Amino acid sequence: MAIRPEPLKTLNQYQILNTIRIAGSISRIEIAQIVGHSRATVTNITAKMIASGLIYEKEVEGTAARGRNRILLAINPDAAYVVGVKVSAFRIGCVVTDILANVKSSVVMPVRTSERPAEFVADLIEEAIRHCVLEAGLSLKQVSGIGIGVPGLVDSREGVSYWSPLYRRGDITLRDLIQDRFGISTYVDNDSNTVALSQLWRGQGMGINNFAVVTVEDGLGMGVVIDGELYRGSNGFAGELGHFVAVPGGEPCRCGKKGCYEAYVSNFGILNAAKRLCREGTWQCADMEALAYEEVLEAARAGNQDLVEVFNRAGSYLGHALAGLIQIFNPSRIIVTGNGIRAGELMFGPMRAMLEESVWPEMHSKTEVVVHEWQDMDWSLGAACLVLQELYKSPLDRCVAAEKMQEAIKSD
Ligand SMILES: [Zn+2]
Repeated sequence: MAIRPEPLKTLNQYQILNTIRIAGSISRIEIAQIVGHSRATVTNITAKMIASGLIYEKEVEGTAARGRNRILLAINPDAAYVVGVKVSAFRIGCVVTDILANVKSSVVMPVRTSERPAEFVADLIEEAIRHCVLEAGLSLKQVSGIGIGVPGLVDSREGVSYWSPLYRRGDITLRDLIQDRFGISTYVDNDSNTVALSQLWRGQGMGINNFAVVTVEDGLGMGVVIDGELYRGSNGFAGELGHFVAVPGGEPCRCGKKGCYEAYVSNFGILNAAKRLCREGTWQCADMEALAYEEVLEAARAGNQDLVEVFNRAGSYLGHALAGLIQIFNPSRIIVTGNGIRAGELMFGPMRAMLEESVWPEMHSKTEVVVHEWQDMDWSLGAACLVLQELYKSPLDRCVAAEKMQEAIKSD
């Protein structure tokens, strides 16, 4: 069972909570000005939040008129705890955070999930969660929700992963497998969406209403935030930049189609192009089967022109993809991240050149393209933010009472 929101009441609550979160601490009058409600409404809603222990009053010395102390409102960080999990081909990352997305504990398990059955992956996730919750000094009863980020095509509303380069698809969804084990509300989303959420909550997207996060890793992913909310589209499939066919009939992609951006820009695409050079005898690599991305990058850095050309092509296609994004969404920022940014200028030089060539300068100048240093924890932190996003919208009694929510799931 998902946390059931009560539309209007909880929308007001969400706006107010989010305003307090972004500000850190803020007066009732300022909240009313920002969210556009009357002071009476804000006072009424915040009184309930104080009574439930979700927020608290904080007295700040002599800053109000005539030197009187001001009363500000702040979120009680320990009002709730959530878990975020990121599943990738060769590791599972897990974090436990408080209600402000402060990390209480984290763990990375180096395990292969690729090509394993969903039940097996669920066993590993269960282990990671139990370990991480214990590390945080908490019990499972204190956990209000679990978020999971996985690569591939995910219907976040139904919790169904239609296509993933990782686990084999079974009859049971990964979300249900985890939810049934713990009796805790569980959410699954595409991992690039969860990274966009981590940037919205704690990173380069904080306070920015329109931005996109493009992740370059084994795959090429994207999460889009429009008007301060993650944009998922009608079924949660939005943001599939990586599998946009840029070259009809082009390079084969892992998803089964041909000519997707991912087939050129991702680490996987680069590795494939390098392997072809090996096969053709253009480049002498030591062991083609065991060829790693790092080896390709090193050889390109050492000046192998054929490999430089592979990165050049990847960067050009990335620039081409970003040009499309700028023209369709007019975002104020595009954050490029993921372990593929190690390619540096080999990739970002051609990316910038293509952007300049493909977008009118007036439009291009309105979007800042930043390359953001990759942090492993961003992924699992984002999955935790997926839960927090829902929690902030859920009725107050559920928001601060993990146990109550777990009982409701059991009786469902
Ligand atoms: Zn594809």
